[in-house]
Amino acid sequence: MEKVCDECNQRLKDDSHLAVHLNTYHRKSFCAVCKQEFDNAQILKAHVKNVHGFYHHI
Ligand SMILES: [Zn+2]
Ligand SMILES: [Zn+2]
Repeated sequence: MEKVCDECNQRLKDDSHLAVHLNTYHRKSFCAVCKQEFDNAQILKAHVKNVHGFYHHI
């Protein structure tokens, strides 16, 4: 049964794909350095790289 993401309307194959999608794109993430909150891991990664000048794995 196809699922549609509530946040971005992307279509996912099933529940498990939706769960992975939510975890990847819509999980709230905190910067380990300055404790700022970001909407998703992509934004957090860009923040860490640009603001703190290094890359770290979440
Ligand atoms: Zn989505
Ligand atoms: Zn930070």
